[in-house]
Amino acid sequence: TPVVAVVGRPNVGKSTLVNRILGRREAVVEDVPGVTRDRVAYDAAWAGRAFTLLDTGGWDPEAKGMAARITAQAEVGMAAADVVMFVVDSTVGATDTDEAVAKLLRRSGKPVILVANKVDGPSGEADAAALWNLALGEPFPVSALHGRGSGDLLDAVVAALPDAPPESFDTDGGGPRRVALVGKPNVGKSSLLNKLAGEDRVVVDSVAGTTVDPIDEMVELGGREWRFIDTAGIRRRVHEASGAEYFASLRTASALERAEVAVVLIDASEPLAEQDLRIISMVVDAGRALVLAFNKWDLLDDERRDVLEREIDRQLDRVAWAPRINVSARTGWHVDRLVRALDTSLEGWEQRIPTGKLNSFLGQLVAAHPHPVRGGKQPRIMFATQADTRPPRFVLFTTGFLEPSYRRFVERRLREEFGFEGTPLDISMKIRE
Ligand code: GDP
Repeated sequence: TPVVAVVGRPNVGKSTLVNRILGRREAVVEDVPGVTRDRVAYDAAWAGRAFTLLDTGGWDPEAKGMAARITAQAEVGMAAADVVMFVVDSTVGATDTDEAVAKLLRRSGKPVILVANKVDGPSGEADAAALWNLALGEPFPVSALHGRGSGDLLDAVVAALPDAPPESFDTDGGGPRRVALVGKPNVGKSSLLNKLAGEDRVVVDSVAGTTVDPIDEMVELGGREWRFIDTAGIRRRVHEASGAEYFASLRTASALERAEVAVVLIDASEPLAEQDLRIISMVVDAGRALVLAFNKWDLLDDERRDVLEREIDRQLDRVAWAPRINVSARTGWHVDRLVRALDTSLEGWEQRIPTGKLNSFLGQLVAAHPHPVRGGKQPRIMFATQADTRPPRFVLFTTGFLEPSYRRFVERRLREEFGFEGTPLDISMKIRE
């Protein structure tokens, strides 16, 4: 789906606007067995067009060097987005920072929707009109808080979206696989990429219609071509200073959007971090195939290896299905094992279980392990079907609500029976009374 990035200074009302837009979205009742849902990319829709809303609003406004980081934020938004919504506080008017960002946006050649927010006072219209001087076209007056103008705004956003989804990977059978190499800063992404790609790497695919950096690289692994997504972001390292973590998650979200499989790189020489877990959750929530790669293995002694095993048992339990490899990007040790892990995860991600086979398995399972009786009732799975792949999606038709522990049990047994290594499973229920 196309990506719409929301860019702007702190306190101009980006989050309110994002909530306003999402509030209009139809609720999708799904049950993806994930971990936490901490994301910056949301599914949104307007007038029948689905798009991904990239919320770039989450950093600390008190931090120093703000102008620099807002510029960087606009850059990230631009690289990822098909359309940029640039939000300005019309009661304040265009600040120097706004002008710097406007210049960047003009140069990008991307469609920009200029949002004049906080148009709710008496001088609102005049304030909004003053923003014509940003030379980004007509300012859209809105009050994100009260909802005013957001319909017109969304009409404009949808009109600016590219006509067709730009090359859906669901349909491009046979092309190079799309890999997102993700992980917190300094885990060795850039080092690993260099090892994999070598010096004579091929750089491909500049963002359509713009002059910004090429973003993907073709890498040959195991005699085949693989497309590594958004490698410019890995190599360029624009966000060194504060906010690095935030920008990393923004970049991860946009890389995942285009990837089929994600390699989450983890620094094995350090304790597992909250951020590692968050990135893994993003992959699961995005429904991408997953490979866990533990890097800097050359730095590990026996003691650290034992501690790491325990950390993995305790904290990576939710993704115990993901293939794990241990590597050293520095020495190149075991880097050649990546291709096999990628193949394994992609195979699980695309696996389809015939309905007959699925139901005879579930029938036996349910007979041997019925759902516990709750409030005098005993919900039962009547029938199941695999509705989709990439990732596998199952719909269970039941006679009542299955409690989470039972759903986890079913998922565990499905995996034991059919594999599904390296892929999250999306299991939802349809209840028939
Ligand atoms: P990125 O931010 O994830 O792209 O990380 P870099 O690739 O820039 O690596 C961060 C630091 O870790 C650099 O100093 C690398 O030399 C170092 N590094 C990367 N991989 C390894 C490894 O396998 N072993 C060791 N000892 N150091 C590594």
